[in-house]
Amino acid sequence: MVLTTKADIKTSDIAKIKEDLEALGLEIQINYGAHKNVIALLGDVSAINIDWITGKYPFIEQAIKISEPYKKANRRFKPDDTVIKVAGEIIGGDKKLAVIAGPCSVESKEQVIEIAKGVKESGATFLRGGAYKPRTSPYAFQGMGLDGLKLLYEAKMETGLPIVSEIMSSSHLDEFVEFVDVLQIGARNMQNFELLKQVGKINKPVLIKRGLSNTIEELLMAAEYVMSEGNEKVILCERGIRTFESFTRNTLDLSAIPALKRLTHLPVIIDPSHATGMAWMVEPMAKAAVAAGANGLIIEVHNDPKKALCDGPQSLTVEEFRTLMGKIEKIAEIEGKSI
Ligand code: PEP
Ligand code: MN
Repeated sequence: MVLTTKADIKTSDIAKIKEDLEALGLEIQINYGAHKNVIALLGDVSAINIDWITGKYPFIEQAIKISEPYKKANRRFKPDDTVIKVAGEIIGGDKKLAVIAGPCSVESKEQVIEIAKGVKESGATFLRGGAYKPRTSPYAFQGMGLDGLKLLYEAKMETGLPIVSEIMSSSHLDEFVEFVDVLQIGARNMQNFELLKQVGKINKPVLIKRGLSNTIEELLMAAEYVMSEGNEKVILCERGIRTFESFTRNTLDLSAIPALKRLTHLPVIIDPSHATGMAWMVEPMAKAAVAAGANGLIIEVHNDPKKALCDGPQSLTVEEFRTLMGKIEKIAEIEGKSI
């Protein structure tokens, strides 16, 4: 349930209603907005009668029962966009476009440093790179593990770019807290609820990729798992879903952008690399995503895509990434965003 009040309500009124409702065993979250405040009630609200509550507290303008199963992620709970600040960069809101770029996997020091410098020069705001890779085959390159995370950290020291990397097991949580700025939950782990709960207990942003065959509501419930543990710094990523179409690696659901932006206050980013599986399709899909209102992009870039140990066919060269950035900047500007 959410209760709305005018923005200029007295703090003593807020304190009183908070105390009364907490005494009923509810968790209360107050979101202050420019025009109105939203008092969100979490827990079993079945005993709360709307007429009773609006009668008892005359400063409440509206009381609405929320039917969706996601609460903390719900835009009705928090009308204003969530803006996540991380290591001097921003993801979310309508002013900045976040651009996360880098290799699918960290392969060597030279590789990751060269790519990091290249994408930084072209205007990327975060460096991505996998150290633990979710591969379909157990015989395929599994990533460099902790050594890979350390190389990403070195690349951060060299370029200043904050690091995004995928965590596959909560047994690696300490390593990620030490070396990584944004923890990525990969598509295959979107419904690994124990892992979601574990990353919900830390104080670092979590980027959740939509599962291969998951609905928008299931993605929002994954975010809710993280948020319900106390970590509200969640970023959602559409990376293509499985459909009958086999020309592209996946089918990019661009309509997820306006849908998610309506349903949630969380930042929404697009991964045109995994969505299409082909480097030549990354530019048109990235442009479309920015025009459709995405808060950011995550793009695979490699210094030598033909020799990449993972996802070479969908990786841009550093040069191609630079060209893409020039085009994206113009579209972002039309949308009122800078990079
Ligand atoms: C990745 O980002 O390299 C990756 C494995 O992504 P996804 O989980 O979307 O397949
Ligand atoms: Mn990849």
